Amino acid sequence: MTVDAARALQVHSERFGAEGKSFRAPARVNLIGEHTDYTGGLVMPMAIDFQTIAVVSPRQDGRAVFYSENFGDEFSFEIATLGLDGRGEWSDYPAGVVWALRQEGVPVSGFNMTLWGNVPLGAGLSSSASVEVATAMALLDAAGVELPIERLANVCRRAENEFVGAKTGIMDQFVVAGAVAHRAMLLDCRAMTFELLPLPEDVRVVICNSMVKHRLADVAGYGDRRGEVEAGQAVVRAERPAVELLRDATLDDLAACADRMSVESLKRCRHIVTENTRVLESREALLAGDVETFGGIMYAAHVSMRDDFAASCEEVDELVEIALQQDGCYGARITGGGFGGCTVNLVKVAETEVFVAAVKAGYKASLGIDAECFVCEPSDGALALLRAAGSSATTLQAGA
Ligand code: ADP
Ligand code: MG
Repeated sequence: MTVDAARALQVHSERFGAEGKSFRAPARVNLIGEHTDYTGGLVMPMAIDFQTIAVVSPRQDGRAVFYSENFGDEFSFEIATLGLDGRGEWSDYPAGVVWALRQEGVPVSGFNMTLWGNVPLGAGLSSSASVEVATAMALLDAAGVELPIERLANVCRRAENEFVGAKTGIMDQFVVAGAVAHRAMLLDCRAMTFELLPLPEDVRVVICNSMVKHRLADVAGYGDRRGEVEAGQAVVRAERPAVELLRDATLDDLAACADRMSVESLKRCRHIVTENTRVLESREALLAGDVETFGGIMYAAHVSMRDDFAASCEEVDELVEIALQQDGCYGARITGGGFGGCTVNLVKVAETEVFVAAVKAGYKASLGIDAECFVCEPSDGALALLRAAGSSATTLQAGA
């Protein structure tokens, strides 16, 4: 499905009878650096060419009115009295942004907003950060306020953590806001600094959805993982004063503490320590334009997620192995929190079509499941999209 600003503006003016202004935010995929963010570590995501569009126009009664074209649903509330009271629906994401902006001291006046996106919902490509950042961009413009990227990302993260109640790290919102086309973003989740890295022109990032939703038993496992990591981190911290977060730990530090933690904690922590190293090695490979090495590191990261972090599943493992058998595939790994979801694959441009067909056919033959595959472009984040649109965002007269 394509979404375009002109059509979104049209929908908005027909619904609200007012001229709107449009803002866009992309989706994202994580190339490498899984489960490192909440221990102050390194991640390397990029924005991808799906988008959420937010069209906004003012209203005078102090109310916020959100309409989602995706859900065909409208929700409104009085801004001044908005508390931490989500209703467990799509509207919590944009309403959470209103709440978080006000917490940040940004004035939010009455408005109508139309939201429309083509990011697959709940597929691990962060439609949630996309809708949050698009909403924040629109409301900041309406307030005449500019926020630096860390604060913008943090407002959106607070919307998701505190208003929606989903405990995500900062990666999604940060890259959706701050990415730059043709670049991956190496984000230091403790310092909140980032570096943009070149992606070779002759490869494509292909995302394959295993169609396995996080299973109930495994979601319990997800909670266990964080507990196991935190328990291990506490042991290392007590033993080695220089280690504040696992980010600071080496394999030697872990080995020295091995007999004071559970086997599970040791393996989970080992994944995180080695994963931070892999992100740095990936940086070197990208700077050298060495896509073969980068692909090899991706697979090593998959093996670590599978064996040490125990957060893959049979279907995703199969999808990775099928991908690696194809010509022109440099690397493949599970992406996202785990226990299902998508793989990210690095594929030679000329081979992408054949790759997608072969992976779909192989997965169907092996497990009887139809995978969805997306060939992605490393895309601009919301701030770069805004800059590219000029100082004023795209506007359209009502009824035009
Ligand atoms: P993911 O971020 O992986 O897509 P999440 O469960 O974190 O999955 O977020 C998906 C939710 O975000 C949707 O179910 C919906 O509530 C909200 N959302 C995303 N895009 C839109 C949109 N265009 N309109 C309204 N709500 C949206
Ligand atoms: Mg999400």
